[in-house]
Amino acid sequence: MFGTAAEINLDALKENFINIRNFLPERVKIAGVIKANAYGHDLKTIAKALASYGVDYIAVANIREAVAVRRVLNEMPILVMGYTAPEDYDKAVKNTITLTMFRLEDLRALNLNASYDNAVMKVHIKYDTGFNRLGYKDEATVISDLKQVLQLEWLSIEGIFTHLALKDADSDTQQMKKFDALIKQLKLEGIHIPIAHACDSIGAMIYPDAPYQMVRLGAALYGYCSRPVPFKLRPVMSLKTSVSHLKWIEPGESVSYDGLFTADSRALIATLPIGYADGLPRNLSKGGVVLIQEKIYPIVGLICMDQCMVDVTGAANIQIGDSVELFGEAASLSDVAVMAGTNRNELLSRVAMRVPRRIVQDGEVIATVDYLLGEGDYGNC
Ligand SMILES: *Cc1c(COP(=O)(O)O)cnc(C)c1O
Repeated sequence: MFGTAAEINLDALKENFINIRNFLPERVKIAGVIKANAYGHDLKTIAKALASYGVDYIAVANIREAVAVRRVLNEMPILVMGYTAPEDYDKAVKNTITLTMFRLEDLRALNLNASYDNAVMKVHIKYDTGFNRLGYKDEATVISDLKQVLQLEWLSIEGIFTHLALKDADSDTQQMKKFDALIKQLKLEGIHIPIAHACDSIGAMIYPDAPYQMVRLGAALYGYCSRPVPFKLRPVMSLKTSVSHLKWIEPGESVSYDGLFTADSRALIATLPIGYADGLPRNLSKGGVVLIQEKIYPIVGLICMDQCMVDVTGAANIQIGDSVELFGEAASLSDVAVMAGTNRNELLSRVAMRVPRRIVQDGEVIATVDYLLGEGDYGNC
C-alpha cells in the first residue's frame, strides 16, 4: 500500500497487556491510559481492544476524550485524570464519567449537577505528594473536605490518587510515604475509599508490590518502559511510508530549502511523502535516519511540511513504492527520540490526524482508520 500510515499492531498490544497483567499482583486493577488519541494509536480502536482484553478502567486526560470513549464502550468505567471545568459537569453526568476532584467548591457543584439527574457520580480525589501539578496539597484539608463530601447525596468517593515525579527512589519513597500517611489517616477517620492509585507505567514496573489497588498504564501498553522489565514489551505502532521518487544528483547539488545539504559526490536521493506536519520532527533534518529493506539511510536537507529526502546511495535495488519505516517494530523509537531531543510519548502522540492508522490483527490489516475520509478502508472512499 502506498503512502504514509501508522501501523497499529493489536497482537503486540494484547501481548503487552497479558504480560503486564501476569506480572502485576492479581488484586491490582489496570487502568488503560488512552489520552491523546491513545498516544497516537487511535482512541476508539485501543479502547475497544483493551476492553476486550479485560482492562478494568479507562483513563483519559479530559472530558472530551472521555465522552469519545463512552461512545464506543457502554459499561466501562472511565476516569478523567485532568481537571474538568464546572461547565462540563453535565457532560460527565450524562455520560457516567468519573472525575478527578481536588476542591470542595467543585465537589459541591458536581453534587448539584448530579442531583438534577438523580445520578450518583463517582469521583477520584487527587492528592499532590510533590509533583505540584494538580491536587490537594495538605492532609488536613483533604480530610476535612472529604468529611463534608460524605454528606453530599450525589457523590461517591471511589478513588484517591497521586502521581509520582519519578525523580529517584528517594523522591518516590517520600511521595508514597505522604500518600500512605493520608490513606492511614482516612482509615482512622472511618473514611473508606476503595481504590487508591499512584503508579504509571514506570511506577508499576519498579513498585509492583506497592500497596495500592490500581495502576494507570499508558506507555507500557504501547510497548515502552524506560526501566528494565522482566518480559518483552513490543512496540504497537510502526510509522511507515513509501518511496515516492528517486533521482541521482551531481556533486555540488543541494537538497531542500536553504540548500543545507550539498552532495560531495554523486548521490541517489529518495523522496518520501512524510514531513513535519505528519509528526516527523523537523529537527531530525540533521541526524535523522530511516529504515529501508533493513538498512539505515540518513535524512538529508531540511524536512519539509509534507515530504523529506533520504540519501540512499548504495541501495542497489531500491524502487518507487518501497516501504520505509520511520520508527516502530524494526526502527527503534528510542533512538529517534534521542536524536530528536524529545521522548517517545511525544513522538507517538504527535503522529498527525492526516496519517491513517492501519490496524493489524493476527498479522493482517483488519481496518484502516482515516480521520480525513472516515473510518473504513480508505481505498474505497
Ligand atoms: C499520562 C498519565 C499516566 C500514564 O503514564 P505512562 O507513563 O504513559 O504510563 C498515568 N497517570 C497520569 C496522571 C497521567 O497523566
